Amino acid sequence: MVLKADRSLFGRIIVIGQSRKIDVRELLQYSLGPLPWSLATTEGFPRKTNLAALATPLQKDVPLADGLPQNSAAIIDGMSLVQKLSVGGGQTTFAMVASSLLTKVLHEGSQTNRIDVVFDIYRDMSIKNAERTMRGEVAGVQLSYISSTQLVKQWRNFLSEVKNKTSLIKFFSREWREEDCMRRLKGKTLFVTAESECWKITKKGSENVAELTSNQEEADTRLLLHAKHAAQEGYEAVAVISEDADVFVLLLNFSSIINTRLYMKCGSRMRTRLVDIKGAVQRTGREICEALIGLHSFTGCDSVSAFAGKGNLGALKILKTNEGVRRAFQELGQSWTVSEDLYTLLEKLTCSMYIPVGNTTSHVNDARYKLFCAKNGELESHQLPPCQDSLRKHILRANYQAAYLEANPDIPSPDGMGWTTQTSTDAASTELVINWMDGQPAPSAVLELLVCKCKKTCKLPSCVCMNSGLKCTDLCSLNDSTNQPAQDDSSNIIDNEADEYDDDDF
Ligand SMILES: [Zn+2]
Ligand SMILES: [Zn+2]
Repeated sequence: MVLKADRSLFGRIIVIGQSRKIDVRELLQYSLGPLPWSLATTEGFPRKTNLAALATPLQKDVPLADGLPQNSAAIIDGMSLVQKLSVGGGQTTFAMVASSLLTKVLHEGSQTNRIDVVFDIYRDMSIKNAERTMRGEVAGVQLSYISSTQLVKQWRNFLSEVKNKTSLIKFFSREWREEDCMRRLKGKTLFVTAESECWKITKKGSENVAELTSNQEEADTRLLLHAKHAAQEGYEAVAVISEDADVFVLLLNFSSIINTRLYMKCGSRMRTRLVDIKGAVQRTGREICEALIGLHSFTGCDSVSAFAGKGNLGALKILKTNEGVRRAFQELGQSWTVSEDLYTLLEKLTCSMYIPVGNTTSHVNDARYKLFCAKNGELESHQLPPCQDSLRKHILRANYQAAYLEANPDIPSPDGMGWTTQTSTDAASTELVINWMDGQPAPSAVLELLVCKCKKTCKLPSCVCMNSGLKCTDLCSLNDSTNQPAQDDSSNIIDNEADEYDDDDF
C-alpha cells in the first residue's frame, strides 16, 4: 500500500494501534508515516535550516587584517563571478564573455601573484541533485560545445541550464589559454578548473596540473585543495574570496591543513573585509572549529535534512560544553562507514536536542515515547525525533556529506549511504533519491486496518474504519462512503509549519 503524505495518518495509526491493543511504546518505534516528518517536508524534500544562523555567532568580532603580503594567492569561486557578469544581448560573442570574466578575475586578484578560479562540477548523479531531479527541471536550449565567435542568446536562460554551465566552463579554460588572454596575465599565474581537470596558465604557456585534478563537485570544497596547494608552493598568504557562510565554516574547520596565513575576503566593492581565519580559529577554539563540519552536516545542510524546529544553534551550544558531542562531530566523516559507537553518541545527542532538560534516555524510540506521554499524545508526528531506523539513515547521510567535504579528490558513490538509485518507470533514466528508512512505516497489524476495502457501502461489522471508530479517508476504496468526515470537520486538517526555523526549543 502506498501511503500518502498525510500527517493526519499519525493520529489514525495511534488510534488503530490502541484498538488493536498494541502498546504505544511499541508503535512509536515505527515512523508512523511514509516519511519521517521530523526530517522530510510534505513534498518529500529534506527539511532546511539556516546556515547563516550558525555562521553569525562565529563571525562576530573576528580579527581583521589590513592587507595581503606581496607574495600571495587569491582563490575565487568561478561561478559566483560568472553570475555577476552583465551580458547584454545582440552582438556579444562568447569570446567577449570570457574576456570580461578575465577582467573581473584580474581585478579580484589585483594584489596577488597567483589567482585560482575554481568552478563546480555538474553531475547527474549527485547528492545535491536528489532534490533537483525530483522537481523535474525543464530542459532549455543546450550547447554542448561553445566556440569563441558564437553569439550569446538569452544569457540568463542559458545559464540556468546545467549542461550549458559545463560547456561554458570548458570554454573559459580553452579561451584563457589563447595568446590574447595569456598576454594579459603579465607576471601573474592563473589556475582554472574545468570539470575534474585544472590548468595552470602564465603569459609564457599553459599546462595541466595533476595535483589539482579532483572529482570534488563543489567549488566551495575544492578551493580548499587549491589553498593547500598554494601554501605548499610557498605563498606567504592565501585569500579565499567569497561571501558564502559555507566557505567561512569550511575554512574554520580545515585551517590547520593550510600551512600559511589564511584569509577570507568578503564584503562589497566599497567595503571589503579581510578576515584572519587563523585568528578566528584561535578565538573560537580549535577543538570547536574542527567539529563544525560534523555539526553542519548533522543538523542540516544542502544535501542532508535538518530536524524540524531544531536549528543548528542549539547543537552549537551543546557542542561548546560537551566534549563527547565534540568528539562525535569530529569523528563524523573521518571514514566512509559509521561505527556503532558513533551511532550511539549521535543518537544520544538527538535525544538531548529533543529533551534538553533532565534527559535520561539515549534511545530515540524511548525519547519518542516520553515526549508523546508528556504531551498526552497531543502532538504532530514531526514534533517527535525520527525513529531509530530513520535516524540511522540520517546519520549515514550526514557522515557521507562530512566525509565528502574532506575527500579531495576521491569520492565513492553515495548509493547505499543513506541514498539509493532509482530507475524511472520508463527505464529511461536513473536518479539518486533519499533512502529515508528500511523498515515498515507501522506494524503490519495496523497497516492492514489503515483503510477499508469496502465494495458497495461502508457498514458494520465489515468496514475496518467504522470498526475502529474512524471516518474513512481518501485512501479508502469508496469515494462516496457514508462514513466520510463532515465537510467542516477540521480534525484532518494539517498543521502549519510555523516552527520551521525555531531554535527556542533548546
Ligand atoms: Zn469502509
Ligand atoms: Zn474506510
